[in-house]
Amino acid sequence: MAIQHISQLRCVICGTMYPADNRYTCDKCGVTGILEVEYDYEKVAKTLTRHALAQRPWTHWRYEELLPVDFSLPLPALHIGYTPVYHAERLGEWVGVRDFSIKDDGRNPSASFKDRASSVGVMKATEYHAKTIAAASTGNAASSLACFAAAVGLPSVIFVPEKAPEPKIAQLLVFGATVIKVKGTYDAAYDFCMDACAKYGWYNRNCAINSYLVEGKKTCGLEIAEQFADMMPDWVCVSVGDGCTIAGVWKGVREMFHLGFIKKLPRMLGVQASGCKPVADAFHADKDVVPVDGVTRADSINCGTPRNWRKAVHALRESRGEIVAVSDAEIMEAMNKTARLSAVFGEPSGAASVAGVKRAIADGIIKKDESVCAVITGNGLKDVKAAIETAGTPINIPADLTALDEELKKRKVL
Ligand SMILES: *Cc1c(COP(=O)(O)O)cnc(C)c1O
Repeated sequence: MAIQHISQLRCVICGTMYPADNRYTCDKCGVTGILEVEYDYEKVAKTLTRHALAQRPWTHWRYEELLPVDFSLPLPALHIGYTPVYHAERLGEWVGVRDFSIKDDGRNPSASFKDRASSVGVMKATEYHAKTIAAASTGNAASSLACFAAAVGLPSVIFVPEKAPEPKIAQLLVFGATVIKVKGTYDAAYDFCMDACAKYGWYNRNCAINSYLVEGKKTCGLEIAEQFADMMPDWVCVSVGDGCTIAGVWKGVREMFHLGFIKKLPRMLGVQASGCKPVADAFHADKDVVPVDGVTRADSINCGTPRNWRKAVHALRESRGEIVAVSDAEIMEAMNKTARLSAVFGEPSGAASVAGVKRAIADGIIKKDESVCAVITGNGLKDVKAAIETAGTPINIPADLTALDEELKKRKVL
């Protein structure tokens, strides 16, 4: 049972330590006292070796010792993690950096990065004998949870904001979740979900307060370290909503550094939408987050009240990183270019990382001769409307070769 590698949970605010049990936040600091899972790394290092990894399945469960999961329980059958990293030369030319790679996390079972957390979430729910698992989400955490609940046969109740894109709602419904569309934003859905979990005793998969779930997100960082090994990029870039993703990825690379798998740590580049950038503002002002009413097409990072900003800011500071804000126009252009120049189709919040790298280069944060890995956190089919908007229209003609000839010439295809 890998769970025995956990040493304790530690409050990110006051540092109080707790045993690794079924709790969400610090007793003293309340709901903002998010906990961090700490491991006995000496013990981990004994069995988590390159040699051992070579024999293990190519999913994120391969990092058994670094996951808060009871491996004596049955795992969901779906393939999670170990997503591909591609060297993207033409896209790199467009963003303006010498050595550019992308990691396609849209390749996960429900087509987003969130599957890393949900898979851990359903394992914890099973361990604690929960009858139902619940979450609030801008969309992806929801569709991911519904997917994994279906994988292990657990009922799920999902709270989404009224503006969640339809393809994500379709995923929820098809996986059999009970879907509650809440009037207002993600923040309204989040608070409502918390109340409902307290009332009905459901297992709460909300990443921001459930420290075990960030451990799932961490596996992206563990993989980046294993996949790049001696060629670690100077920068790793992800988009930032609540902040759990960037915090998770940072924790992953840091643990792999600590265990000796990599010799160099990357700097973290966070990306927010300029219509919703409370974490960027807090980082730059060196102040606490001030909630905003977010407005952006990148719905998955439209978190006006980011719940995990402390961990995100900590990751940025500790890695000597930066966080930039990009406009919706920049995000949409990056979505288009990423598909055309690297053949990876990301949703707006996924391609936002590419837009962020381009911006960071223009602003002189990243130098042209540095190496960068951007994580594409969600697949483009999650938001078909956005894709069509940035991609243009088809040529609409009868089956007539003369008409085809004319159109092709007009568009300079001939
Ligand atoms: C959730 C999400 C993010 C941001 O993750 P946070 O943990 O909220 O910062 C980025 N991209 C996609 C596609 C997401 O679904």
